[in-house]
Amino acid sequence: MLPLTFDQLSLSPRFGRLPSHFYSRIQPTPLPAPYLIAWNQPLASEMGLAMDASQHPNLADYLCGNRLPTNSEPIASVYSGHQFGVNAGQLGDGRAILIGEFQTANGDFWEMQLKGAGPTPYSRRADGRAVLRSSIREYLCSEAMQGLGIPTTRALGMAGSAQGVWRESLETAAVVLRAAPSFVRFGHFEHYRNDIDSLQILADWVIEHHYPSASQASNPYVSLLEQVIERTAVMIAKWQAVGFCHGVMNSDNMSILGLTLDYGPFGFMDGFDAGHICNHSDDTGRYSYQNQPEMGLWNLQCLAQALLPLMDRAAALNALQQYQSHFETHFADLLRQKLGLLTWQESDWGLITQLFALMHAAHTDWTFFWRNLANMDSSLRNHFLDRSAYDIWLADYQLRLSSEARKPDERIAAMNQTNPKYVLRNYLAEIAIQKARDAGDFSEINHLQHCLMQPFAEQTEFEHYAALPPAWAAQIGVSCSS
Ligand code: AMP
Ligand code: MG
Repeated sequence: MLPLTFDQLSLSPRFGRLPSHFYSRIQPTPLPAPYLIAWNQPLASEMGLAMDASQHPNLADYLCGNRLPTNSEPIASVYSGHQFGVNAGQLGDGRAILIGEFQTANGDFWEMQLKGAGPTPYSRRADGRAVLRSSIREYLCSEAMQGLGIPTTRALGMAGSAQGVWRESLETAAVVLRAAPSFVRFGHFEHYRNDIDSLQILADWVIEHHYPSASQASNPYVSLLEQVIERTAVMIAKWQAVGFCHGVMNSDNMSILGLTLDYGPFGFMDGFDAGHICNHSDDTGRYSYQNQPEMGLWNLQCLAQALLPLMDRAAALNALQQYQSHFETHFADLLRQKLGLLTWQESDWGLITQLFALMHAAHTDWTFFWRNLANMDSSLRNHFLDRSAYDIWLADYQLRLSSEARKPDERIAAMNQTNPKYVLRNYLAEIAIQKARDAGDFSEINHLQHCLMQPFAEQTEFEHYAALPPAWAAQIGVSCSS
């Protein structure tokens, strides 16, 4: 089949067919003289869209909302949510506009959303825009997470403009065209907690399109909740395994599909610090690395609370109680793979606890350590403060490995499929941002994306992206400002 252009897409609204009080119809605000920053060719071909940016007429205009696919009925949805533990009341897509929903030839369904295409009825006096730096970060991290095998929304492309946007200082605007099977958040359910009819319409819609197996259950809504709990636990276990910190795990940023959603002040940890806070606006460390699993549960409690009109309290509590074991099971399995073990024993938690304590004390680089553990490179001990304690740990680890008859080559190959060589370190994103901002040079974005799509592969041309962070990396501060 020939690749399609945006104009040839056959749109078939699903979210847009919910009753009209679920959203507002809103046109994107034109962006002056947009320029193309990135086009995600692999994702575009997966979707059946034009293969090559140069083949697509007016691509930058489509990526920022100056042009819309034929028959587009753009909407911004309303939701509520808890932000930093406090009920924030009504929120909504303040700078995201759903421009189209369609099905690909292989049956996958995609919603396309412009992020930063101008104000909506939910913008609450903000400008509806996104700045270049945060758009580059969202674009790159969406695809980095996809490469790591972590459920995420995707980024199809990005356009920028010289138009000024005020944050702490004057910056310029950019728009990311992002895609996901659905952008429904926990917050959508919280919005209807006192409107049972709408709550049920929304829950039925999510079940019909995204959790069809739940409809077979004696109470489909309990099954929905259970499945969301499991997906959320799995997603966060995967975050923990690669050292990813989301930064703003508010309930309006939690996807009902268990996708990593709303990339803002996120960060991959460089040096391991259990209490690492990636978001400079997070004063109390509510969303620190070690708090993420518990915050996942906290948000699920908000979701369960919202769903209570549709189920017994006991059923909701019972579902929530499964969270911890889902998380632990998946996290243990990921740690097993990270260590190159075939089986997981209760006593392996001891090995992990000791290792984490040593890494925490020395702020050992998370990605570098795990990647190089496979070969047990002798220089690894230099990444610890208490080197003799590390030697003892290593001897224990080797003893544990020898208890399993696994060929070293096999173990190393398996570990290299689990411990990525490349992650989107803050400083790598920062270099790409600086080149884009200062020189209009987007090549670094392109290179990083290509590298991060295969984070487990040895890529000689991208060896430098696996380097330990430079000293200035520690000075990078990311905040909610985006
Ligand atoms: P966030 O913390 O980025 O998830 O944003 C929280 C809420 O504020 C969401 O409803 C966003 O849509 C909205 N929001 C954030 N930044 C802007 C902006 N520049 N213009 C309009 N709405 C925004
Ligand atoms: Mg958000």
